[in-house]
Amino acid sequence: MRGGVLRRFFVQEIAAKESSCTITGSEARHITKALRLGRGDRIILMDSQGVRFQAIIESVAPQRVKVKLEKPLPKPPDSPVEITLCQALLKSQAMDLVIEKTSELGIHAVQPFTSERTVVKLDGSKSENKTRRWREISYGAATQSDGRAPAEIGPLVSFKDLLTTYHKEDALKVIFWEEEDAKDLKGLLRASSPMKKAVGMVGPEGGFTRKEIRMAEEAGFTSVSLGQRVLRAETAAIAMTAIIQYEWGDLSLPDLCSPLTFI
Ligand code: SAH
Repeated sequence: MRGGVLRRFFVQEIAAKESSCTITGSEARHITKALRLGRGDRIILMDSQGVRFQAIIESVAPQRVKVKLEKPLPKPPDSPVEITLCQALLKSQAMDLVIEKTSELGIHAVQPFTSERTVVKLDGSKSENKTRRWREISYGAATQSDGRAPAEIGPLVSFKDLLTTYHKEDALKVIFWEEEDAKDLKGLLRASSPMKKAVGMVGPEGGFTRKEIRMAEEAGFTSVSLGQRVLRAETAAIAMTAIIQYEWGDLSLPDLCSPLTFI
């Protein structure tokens, strides 16, 4: 690509001490087939730890692209809050939308789970294919948004396993319930000092059962409302990510001296 903004590509890990790196799989196909980049073209390489290099393509083959690392580039800062979305399995398009939009908003991880009212049933191989697809979506969103690193997409788990995993987690832990009438996310965030981790749980199209809400509370989750309107699950997931990132994270410019900028 001559001049212009350099295209960015993720690889699992850049061994900075090496002088070259090989890109394989869908990223390699994207470079060679879709973008028709070739020897001498410059790109930006990023890995899941936020390491970044400007690189120059040395050789291309349909499934492998060899690049030479030219110069390290500054890592984008981490968000002050690591947000994890636990999302009950939704129909395909809604799940894709949740992964893409929360990735653009800097989500740290998306953990899909099944609950009493999840309608989509994924067995072993279908579940692995879905996880692979969601990881490609999160890679694409992180590349497009120039994010620090792609969101981690966990393997599909059960609601019970999820509660066991997060029971001991030191984080803001909230379960979103449209029937909650005493506590809301806005009040909870304003009443708490910012934490380094936040875990938000959003139900399926049919919502959580009261039993599930109670189980989550026993595991240390607080049931909160996002207001009077009943949102689609994908809307609640995206809204939750934006709100927490805005209040405690980096949905703002870095190092602004003070809000007085506008006064
Ligand atoms: N019971 C709902 C369907 C659930 S909405 C109905 O009557 O149609 C899907 C998910 O989005 C819920 O499980 C919940 O996690 C979240 N959600 C939707 N609206 C919400 C609200 N106002 N407050 C909190 N969570 C909400």
